[in-house]
Amino acid sequence: MKKIIRIETGAAPHWVGDGFPVRTIFSYQNAGEVISPFLLLDYAGPARFEPTDNPRGVEEHPHRGFETVTIVYQGQLEHRDSAGNHGTIGPGDVQWMTAASGVVHEEFHQSEFTRNGGILEMVQLWVNLPAKFKMSAPKYQTLLDRDIPVVSIPNGCGTVRVIAGEFQGLKGPACTFSPIDLWDLRLAHGARTELSLPEGHNTALLVLRGRLRLNASKVAGDAELALFDRTGGTITVEAQSNTSVLVLSGEPISEPIVGRGPFVMNTEEEICQAILDYQHGRIGRIGL
Ligand code: MN
Repeated sequence: MKKIIRIETGAAPHWVGDGFPVRTIFSYQNAGEVISPFLLLDYAGPARFEPTDNPRGVEEHPHRGFETVTIVYQGQLEHRDSAGNHGTIGPGDVQWMTAASGVVHEEFHQSEFTRNGGILEMVQLWVNLPAKFKMSAPKYQTLLDRDIPVVSIPNGCGTVRVIAGEFQGLKGPACTFSPIDLWDLRLAHGARTELSLPEGHNTALLVLRGRLRLNASKVAGDAELALFDRTGGTITVEAQSNTSVLVLSGEPISEPIVGRGPFVMNTEEEICQAILDYQHGRIGRIGL
């Protein structure tokens, strides 16, 4: 059994641009070793937006050295980047962007969603890259809802959408640079099941909405994160209400982390270089 290290409650909400009221659930600055290969997770909403004609979101900004994974639960987002990628991400869709050597992108509410208003609920997860891939070419994977396999848990207990890695032999569509499992788990009230995850991997369960009893001991509620020990391979979960959970697990990347804002590298020197490269337009620009 994977032991619970602790249960964390996300920080107070703050705004990212004018589109994303987020709670930062974890960050490498305070959970580094126990959360690697993941770096940061922001949970936005659920929040209602009134109709408007003014685009809401985050203006053009860079990233280097890691991947951003955007999971939309409710609402519609629109994305555009310096590698020429452009797309919308709706409920159930996942955008897996490998910034690697660098991209500049903008993240906005999709125009029709902005005009009509509605509820936005999404997660943005930052996944670290092993040092040898930090300066590789940027890449972009659009994982549509219909391309993400769904496994039913017996006895009407719920479902698992396999975004990355594998659940009961079914593989998720995301290509990753280190071994990762990322599952969107929905449990019905009263469901009880056991999750198997690789021994030696760091594991965290984020309860988005609901209440979950873990290993027949501690309980995690809305926007709470349970962190687990690397040893052991199973976690028991019992839903005390209908519960939506994001399961994150991965092989730790045992390399130094030096980050500043949108750049996460291995050394101070590489961070200075990233800032210089951005200032000189070498990370790119969004085409018109
Ligand atoms: Mn970004």
